[in-house]
Amino acid sequence: MLHLRLAWALAVLAAAPVVAFGAETRPNFIVIYADDLGYGDLGCYGHPMIRTPHLDRMAAEGMRFTQFYSAAEVCTPSRAALLTGRYPIRNGMCHSQFRVLRNNAAGGLPREEITLAELLKQRGYATGMVGKWHLGHLPEHLPPHHGFDDYFGMPYSNDMLPAPDAPKGREKFFAENPAYWRTPLIRGTNVIEAQPDQRFLTRRYTEEAVRFIRTHKNGPFFLYFAHTFPHVPLFASADFRGKSPAGFYGDVIEELDWSVGRVLDTVRAQGLAERTLVLFSSDNGPWLIFNHHGGSAGPLREGKGSTWEGGMRVPGIFWWPGRIPAGVVQREVAATLDVLPTFAKLAGAPLPTVTLDGVDISPLLFNTGRGERDAFFYYRGDVLFAARMGEWKAHFITRSGYGPDQPETHDPPLLFHLGEDLGERFNRAAEHPEVLERIARAVQRHRDTLEPVRSQLVETVATP
Ligand code: MG
Repeated sequence: MLHLRLAWALAVLAAAPVVAFGAETRPNFIVIYADDLGYGDLGCYGHPMIRTPHLDRMAAEGMRFTQFYSAAEVCTPSRAALLTGRYPIRNGMCHSQFRVLRNNAAGGLPREEITLAELLKQRGYATGMVGKWHLGHLPEHLPPHHGFDDYFGMPYSNDMLPAPDAPKGREKFFAENPAYWRTPLIRGTNVIEAQPDQRFLTRRYTEEAVRFIRTHKNGPFFLYFAHTFPHVPLFASADFRGKSPAGFYGDVIEELDWSVGRVLDTVRAQGLAERTLVLFSSDNGPWLIFNHHGGSAGPLREGKGSTWEGGMRVPGIFWWPGRIPAGVVQREVAATLDVLPTFAKLAGAPLPTVTLDGVDISPLLFNTGRGERDAFFYYRGDVLFAARMGEWKAHFITRSGYGPDQPETHDPPLLFHLGEDLGERFNRAAEHPEVLERIARAVQRHRDTLEPVRSQLVETVATP
């Protein structure tokens, strides 16, 4: 894939002289990404108890999507898709032997993948990342090697206990640098603290994000701010602990909401609101097996780990005062896959010359047109479990996220109409064989595009 990367770099150089580099043509971008926050966890998505005034205001001033998807049902692949605009089956982050990178893994996002940060950096953006990375935590896989000028955060999930074993071939590094395996805080590529007090993580991340925005106020900049929470174990600072009517989980979400308020207030105070596009979303659905420490998918079925709607449909709020119309509820389908092509378009950056699965959704954001998406595909690991076209969704395989059940294969597939049956309860396959045929053709077209990458996938995939 190196030649593709080279071709892309040449395309950037070729495009540069004809595109104006004035700051006014290049908006700032901020992506705020929660971890395991469910579709039903915010006030503006219908939660009756959790108080999220800042996110509710963001939605009222911007556009709230009701059918916004993460491209995976767990952490690592969903982040890889967000940053590359490609399904994890294409970018190497979905091997069947792992669904997330554990902290004794030596692998990471293949260097050949072109991230949103790299793409924007080529267009003169300052790029920063704060928070949970989870695309490889050895020094050579950290954000500074994927286009980010700055990084501060915890490189994987906050529940990963110190790893007992070294990754194969890295025993010496493991022995000499044990902190990389102890839920560390990292700045750049160096551990600055092992096992920090997680009560202060949201606050510390927020301070870093605010500092980044202030430092780069002359823009353009791209900030990827990926929170550690509400992934379990839950933590909240004293200002929020015990305060929410929705209990501890509510405390954690309300602190995240405070953080969103701090970021947006900083953008406003720096006079950047009308040239900054902010997205709030989540990497996957709520982790339901943690009972009251897990969130809610609202009216959707199941949660994290599953390809039912609750596992992958997440909040999606876009905010850009003066450009994105205020108070719009957007019911078209969109996905985190669309972030890279959309931001590239808005930044005037050429797209990478690799197969992208996302589409430019700026016509949706500006209310000037409809989406171009033909179909959306639901993977679990590298196995296609379901596909959606229009309002129809076919399940080829089903399995609860973390339940004891075995995967169940369906032939014919289960077929649900997501408009009439949001909870995926009433199988309509017998009534609509023509819909199943249409979806089968879309799946075949998708599979045809995957053939060239399957062999490379084996080579580039991270060591489990
Ligand atoms: Mg997650």
